[in-house]
Amino acid sequence: MRTFADLTTMRVGGPVGRFVAAGSEDELLDVIRGADSSGEPVLVFGGGSNLVVGDRGWDGVAVKITTLGAQIDDTLVRAAAGVEWDFLVSATVDAGLAGLEPLSGIPGSVGGTPVQNVGAFGTLTSDVLDSVRVYDRATGAVESWGPERCGFGSHRQSTFKHTDRYVVLEVSYRLRRSQQSVPLKFDRLVAALGIDAGATADIREVRAAVLRLRREKGSIYDPADTDTWGVGSFFINPVLETVPEAAAASPTYPDPLGTKLPAGWLIDKAGFPPGYGAEWGRGTVALSSKHALAVCNRGNATTTDVMSFASHIRAGVQERFDIRLRPECHLVNCSLDEPVERAFAR
Ligand SMILES: Cc1cc2nc3c(=O)[nH]c(=O)nc-3n(C[C@H](O)[C@H](O)[C@H](O)COP(=O)(O)OP(=O)(O)OC[C@H]3O[C@@H](n4cnc5c(N)ncnc54)[C@H](O)[C@@H]3O)c2cc1C
Repeated sequence: MRTFADLTTMRVGGPVGRFVAAGSEDELLDVIRGADSSGEPVLVFGGGSNLVVGDRGWDGVAVKITTLGAQIDDTLVRAAAGVEWDFLVSATVDAGLAGLEPLSGIPGSVGGTPVQNVGAFGTLTSDVLDSVRVYDRATGAVESWGPERCGFGSHRQSTFKHTDRYVVLEVSYRLRRSQQSVPLKFDRLVAALGIDAGATADIREVRAAVLRLRREKGSIYDPADTDTWGVGSFFINPVLETVPEAAAASPTYPDPLGTKLPAGWLIDKAGFPPGYGAEWGRGTVALSSKHALAVCNRGNATTTDVMSFASHIRAGVQERFDIRLRPECHLVNCSLDEPVERAFAR
């Protein structure tokens, strides 16, 4: 029997009621329409790199989107939702198209990119998104949406997040025909490339530098390295109307809805540095030894362990800074509100 431990990069989670890998759009729509008309619960997912499912699993149909196919039409790149994201990035860089290279090495599928407006090194999906073809489960219609309908704006927000109404079928990205990247500002990236902030670089060099930096931080999923068995950033960077006094020393960034603070900084300064957790409780979950924002399965974790550990981290940040962190990943049949004592005892 399939379990979500086999289907996600956190590698936890119980059995799948019914598993379908949908390799064509027709198959995908048939499965979803059939389940919707019979009342069977549907969970749609791609690479499983931003998804944590409870130990009791999913009592319905879990549909992994495995649709393939990508076309490049001048500077417009169109790809099916099931295409592996980094495969597409690599193909566009090879084709001499600039725009996606800072997003190299991010795990998951094309279909996942508009869901949380995937971003890295100062570039967001919304910077390059041309349109999304969407199946609306409420109306049964397939529609093409421009970026203005996608609800991008505040950090990691989109119309697709926190709802299972829409299924992303295909995404189009508008790139530039150029060997030069956009102006790069992100400190570690410009330092790695040996350029000034605001300068551009060859897109192949940008991709190579991004992959190197991500590998150093355990930000490329590697089944052989438990430091990468997670969902990337477990908590979302909080956006606040007012920064609490206790967090006055935190770095801050502007956001359309207020001021954004780095969750990794808050976690570290609340007493949870990289690697924290290895000697704590059952020792099955810890922060990545390479950065404090990744909650990682150290090999034998259950979802209850992950939730308990993440709740403990969240409580520590709240106590120190009066800021309540929210998970960035999609939690299904599990929550951070389970008592910490269930899995861990100091
Ligand atoms: C090591 C590591 C590093 C990471 N680094 C980054 C990073 O730098 N930047 C970043 O933004 N993210 C990062 N992530 C998170 C993750 O890779 C992205 O969020 C990715 O886009 C998720 O895609 P996925 O296909 O794996 O989505 P899944 O995990 O399969 O699904 C995530 C959510 O999206 C929904 N979903 C997925 N596909 C569809 C679809 N076609 N239609 C409708 N809903 C869908 C699912 O229902 C679920 O709610 C990282 C994760 C890991 C493990």
